[in-house]
Amino acid sequence: MASLTVENYAKTIYQLTASQDGRPASTGQIATTLGVSPGTVTSMLKTLDAARLATHRPYEGVALTRAGRMLALRVIRRHRLIELFLMRTLDMTWDEVHDEAEHLEHAVSDLLVERIDVFLGRPEVDPHGDPIPPADAHTLGDGEDPPPRSLADCGSGTGFRLARVLDQSPEFLRYLTECGLALGTVGEVERNPDGAGLMRVRVAGGSLSLALEAAGKLAVAEA
Ligand SMILES: [Zn+2]
Repeated sequence: MASLTVENYAKTIYQLTASQDGRPASTGQIATTLGVSPGTVTSMLKTLDAARLATHRPYEGVALTRAGRMLALRVIRRHRLIELFLMRTLDMTWDEVHDEAEHLEHAVSDLLVERIDVFLGRPEVDPHGDPIPPADAHTLGDGEDPPPRSLADCGSGTGFRLARVLDQSPEFLRYLTECGLALGTVGEVERNPDGAGLMRVRVAGGSLSLALEAAGKLAVAEA
């Protein structure tokens, strides 16, 4: 089993690459995301290179090998299954589970993950709507479908179902809960006037205003 640090690097490089359409991550980006110095990243990249998990080309950036991507997807799979497991079994809320999963994702065995997957009925998405990669996922894109359309882009009268939350900070998630917005919530756009920076949506609990910046972090499906 790879070390906790190696797993975190693989996951970080994977998520940075996925967030920029497959372009390699830079050492600076990795350092910022992990909160370490660029020098630390450079020496860790040598370890990843020796383990054939990532390659680092000067001026191009860091790319995971196929083995590196498989490792990253296994960690992401564990993380997302653990989040859902904690919500379903311990009644934790969607703003509480991420931090716990950050630790547990390195500790659970393949057997335990498989049991959790079966227990949950082989779910496709985690509590934030992020897809759970299948156990054998290995290519970039597996389990990382492009997000559905953003709520901010929906015009007046559009019916929607909240499918995925792209900002998963606990503060933002708690705010959504206060607004009556949860994964799967169905609603309708009342008004989305051009240039107002604000939209009005109706959900079961009533009608509420959302800044377009916040609505832009909500991916919706048609309802
Ligand atoms: Zn998480």
